[in-house]
Amino acid sequence: MHKYLAGLAMCGLLGASGAVWADELPKGPDEDGTKPALARIAGEGMMNSHAFQYLTELSDDIGSRVTGTLAERKAEEWGAAKMKAIGLENVHLEKYTIWKGWTRGSAEAQLLSPTAHKLHVDAMGWTGSTAAGGAEGEVATVNLFDIDDEIKNAPRLKGKVVLVVQKGQPKKNFMMLFASFGDFLRAAHDAGAIAVIGGQGGSKSTGMNLTHTGILGFDADFAIPVVSMTAEDQGQLERFIAKGVKPRIRINVQNTLTSGPVETANVVGEIRGREHPEQILVVGGHLDSWDLAQGTTDNGSGTATTLGAAEAIMRSGQKPRRTIRFVLFTGEEQGLDGSFAYIKQHAAELPNHLGDLILDEGQGAVTDFMLGGRDDLIPTFQPFVSALENVRPLKVNDKVESGTDTLPFSIAGLPGINMNQETSEYKFTHHSAADALDAQKPDVLTQNATLMALTAFWIADRPERLAAPWPAERTAKMLRAQGQYDELKAFNIWPFGDLGAEPKKP
Ligand SMILES: [Zn+2]
Repeated sequence: MHKYLAGLAMCGLLGASGAVWADELPKGPDEDGTKPALARIAGEGMMNSHAFQYLTELSDDIGSRVTGTLAERKAEEWGAAKMKAIGLENVHLEKYTIWKGWTRGSAEAQLLSPTAHKLHVDAMGWTGSTAAGGAEGEVATVNLFDIDDEIKNAPRLKGKVVLVVQKGQPKKNFMMLFASFGDFLRAAHDAGAIAVIGGQGGSKSTGMNLTHTGILGFDADFAIPVVSMTAEDQGQLERFIAKGVKPRIRINVQNTLTSGPVETANVVGEIRGREHPEQILVVGGHLDSWDLAQGTTDNGSGTATTLGAAEAIMRSGQKPRRTIRFVLFTGEEQGLDGSFAYIKQHAAELPNHLGDLILDEGQGAVTDFMLGGRDDLIPTFQPFVSALENVRPLKVNDKVESGTDTLPFSIAGLPGINMNQETSEYKFTHHSAADALDAQKPDVLTQNATLMALTAFWIADRPERLAAPWPAERTAKMLRAQGQYDELKAFNIWPFGDLGAEPKKP
C-alpha cells in the first residue's frame, strides 16, 4: 500500500532474566531436527522453481488487476488454478466485499502559460472527475506540512488547480499528514477547487518522468479529482511559482466510482499439518495491483513468491507438523481489506494461528524479517537466520509493518512477519507505469521464493509452536510503543478503545 516507514530494533540473544542454560537456548535447524527437510526444500526451490513463469503469466496474460474489477476476478481464478496444479489441498476462494469499486478513465493536463506543453498526470485511485471536457484555472499551492491551516484556508481555492508542495519542516509524521490530507481533499472539494495535484509522494517523488498512483486513506474515496504528476513537471511548476509567475493549467480527469460495494475474494490453499493440522501459519502476498502497468513488483512478485514457496515444499515431499495456509490477498491496495476480511472470517480459529509471513516490498532481495511487534520471538528467530547466512545474510527485528497484510495480524496480537526487501528499484516501479515484468530479476525472485519456503516450513515444522496471540492489552501497549497509536486512530482502525494520546518521545 504505502512504504514510507522503516526502522530497526536490535535485541540481544539473551533476555532480561540473565543467564540461560545451554539446553534452553533457542534451537535452529541444526538442533531442532528440521534441517534435512529444509535442505530438500532448498534444492527444489532453487533448481525446479516456476516462480518466474507464474510471474510472467500474471504480468502478461492477466496484467493489472484492481480490486473488484473483471481482471482481478480473473486473477483469482488463475491463482486458484495454480494452487491446484501445485497440489495444495482445500483450494478455494473466500469472498468479501469492499465499500466501493473504481475504474480509471483518462487524465490529461496541459500547461497553458507561461509556456505551453503537455503535463504528465495520472489519477489517484478512488478519486473523482472534473467537469466533462475538463476545466481551466490558475495554480494555487498548498503546503502539506501546514495541512491543518490549509484546511481552514480552503475557501481561497475556488476555481483553482491545487498544487500540493512540501515546504519547511513537517509538524507531524508523514502518516499523520497523510491522514489529515483526506480532510483537506474534502475541504478543497467543498470550496470548488478544480482538481488537486498531489499523490502519495507529493513533490518528493522519484523522477524518471513517472507518476505514482495509489489510495489516499484506508477505504477512502474522494469526489474531487486528485492526480499524481511527474516530479519533472511538478518541479517546473514550483520553479515558476517561486519567481512569482502563476501557471495556468487545463486539466481533464474522468474516473468512475460505483455507487455501492463490489465483490472480491482472497485465494486460499493449504499444506495440512501432519501432527497439528488445526495450528495454522498464513503465508502470502497480494494478488491485486494498481493499473498503470502490469502490477509485477506490487505485488505480482509476492504472489509468485508465495506460489513458488508452496511448490518447493510440495515437490520436496516434506510434510510440516502444522498447517501452512497460503493466501493470495486482494483489496490490499485499498486499505489491507483482504487481510482484515481474513481476520474477521477466521476469528474463531485465530487462537490456533501462529502468525502470517508476507512478501510485499517489491522486486529486490530479502534483507530482514520484521516480526510485527513480537520482540519475544527475536531470540527464537536468530538461530534460524544464522543457519541461512551462507544463503543470504539476513537480519531480524521486531518492527511492525503497517503498509501491508502484516498489520491486521499484528493488531490481532500475532507476529505479522514482513520479509523486508532491498528497494532501490522498487521506489521507481511502485504504483507506476514502470511496474512491469522487466523490473524483476528471475534469480532474485527464485531465491526469495526459496527463502519464503524455508521460513514457512521451519516455522510450521519446528517441534515447539512459534507463537500464540498476545492478549489485547499487551498488543495495544506494543502498538503504542511502536508509534502506531496516533496513525491507526487517525485512519479509524485502532480497535482497542481510547487510550489517550501517545506519550511524546524524548
Ligand atoms: Zn503491495
